[in-house]
Amino acid sequence: MNYKKKLIIVFTAAAIISGCSNNSDTNEKDDHTGHGEHQEHVINDIREETAGIDTLPTFLNEKSENIQVVYQAAAQHKDILENIPCYCGCGESAGHKSSYDCFVFENKENGSIVWDDHGTKCGVCLEIAAQSIVDFQEGKSVKEIRSKIDDLYKEGYSEPTPTPEV
Ligand SMILES: [Zn+2]
Ligand SMILES: [Zn+2]
Repeated sequence: MNYKKKLIIVFTAAAIISGCSNNSDTNEKDDHTGHGEHQEHVINDIREETAGIDTLPTFLNEKSENIQVVYQAAAQHKDILENIPCYCGCGESAGHKSSYDCFVFENKENGSIVWDDHGTKCGVCLEIAAQSIVDFQEGKSVKEIRSKIDDLYKEGYSEPTPTPEV
């Protein structure tokens, strides 16, 4: 399965989705005039259960293909994303522990999967996951990916999720 090309497109496209942090004290935000719509989400994340990784949730139906690709790839790279912090502020606002939580809420024992729509509304989440998976496919180790993400996002973003050290 080759998601790399698509993920690179996503990585670029994600930049146009506004970040989802509402913490304006620590974030310098541009004024939003000119944005057609700006959605604050934080507490209203939707959860939806499907039979497994290959069945995407219906809340993705009206989303772009780019977002669907990131969701599928994220679900398939649990081992990577569980070690990568998200810097969108979701650690505090949504109790997330890692980048993985922005896309998947729970894996059930019977193989079904509970998706979280947080990632659909958040450019930072999409970027971090897409970047991490692309780097993984290029052969980088989890440790290398993590320090790269930490470096890229340590300034100008929210506090990282409390993701255990690799
Ligand atoms: Zn987010
Ligand atoms: Zn996030």
